[in-house]
Amino acid sequence: MSKKHSNISVFVPHIGCPNQCSFCNQFSITACTKTPDENDVIKAVNVAKNSKNYNPQTTELAFFGGSFTAIPREYMLRLLTVANTLLQRGDISGIRISTRPDAVDSEIIEILKEYGVTAVELGAQSMCDAVLKANRRGHTVRDVENASHLIKAAGFSLGLQMMTGLYKSSYETDISAAEKIIALKPDTVRIYPTITLKDTHLEELFKSGEYCPPTLDDTVDLVAKLLLMFKKENINVIRTGLHAINEEDYIAGPWHPAFKELCDSQIYKWEILKHPSGKYTCFVKKGEISKAVGQLKQNINQLKKQGYDITFKECDEMAVYEIRMCKESAVKFNSDTRL
Ligand code: SF4
Repeated sequence: MSKKHSNISVFVPHIGCPNQCSFCNQFSITACTKTPDENDVIKAVNVAKNSKNYNPQTTELAFFGGSFTAIPREYMLRLLTVANTLLQRGDISGIRISTRPDAVDSEIIEILKEYGVTAVELGAQSMCDAVLKANRRGHTVRDVENASHLIKAAGFSLGLQMMTGLYKSSYETDISAAEKIIALKPDTVRIYPTITLKDTHLEELFKSGEYCPPTLDDTVDLVAKLLLMFKKENINVIRTGLHAINEEDYIAGPWHPAFKELCDSQIYKWEILKHPSGKYTCFVKKGEISKAVGQLKQNINQLKKQGYDITFKECDEMAVYEIRMCKESAVKFNSDTRL
């Protein structure tokens, strides 16, 4: 049985959204998406239960979609009732929901508690009111702070989602968003670089020249920095970068299929560059060599141009992003690990 945490995700379309955020095309998606009912939830859990590595002790049922607590109350309660039954039966270990910061108050908190919800994720997106307004979020930074305090005080796991590169944002506002998010002490964070999708307000802004998306390189630099900031505070970043998107929906922006790996590689490169150039054996945590080397050996090649000749080796007792640089003469050379 797998010990790794996993989610059974049930997508609840955005019937609860009071407005359409600049970057979101869920309104067009919702038109052709079936709203899940109790049977769909049971079906999703049964499918997961029949999979080989299913572990009910580490699997949560997750109502994702953006505005769970703003959907019609009777519909929300029906979904929570079936989720609670599955929880009582021991089929799942918890219930996660994601919602808008302005759709959480003490009454909602009581309902979520009553039905056994364990984790609440908020789409904060930015922690700058001007950026939130420019992107038509319809809530303020104060809403994110208030909702976060309520969620934590009630004992739920708090998740906060942030976006980088939004319209009217900057490197400074994105770094400051991470600082303000850290101050709220979330248990988990998700970082999504903004991608301009078809049929969004952002598409109009992009096409008129009003919005200029950041490059992939700049976004990797920024998000790598954010990952280090959250790591320093022991905050678990559970997602970095959007999942796959339909090619026909992509208009512009720093999307990459292995975005997180690009950020990890950048961090390893920064760590290596803290040492003077030369010939080294670099030890990294087991399983991290490919990230340290970089996609298509990008790190190796870039470092070579700066006078580094690196051989990577794995070491069991090391942490993620930790490196140990040894002058090569001090280490027994093993040609198998030379890259
Ligand atoms: S609140 Fe979330 S789901 Fe609703 S429009 Fe905004 S981004 Fe889309």
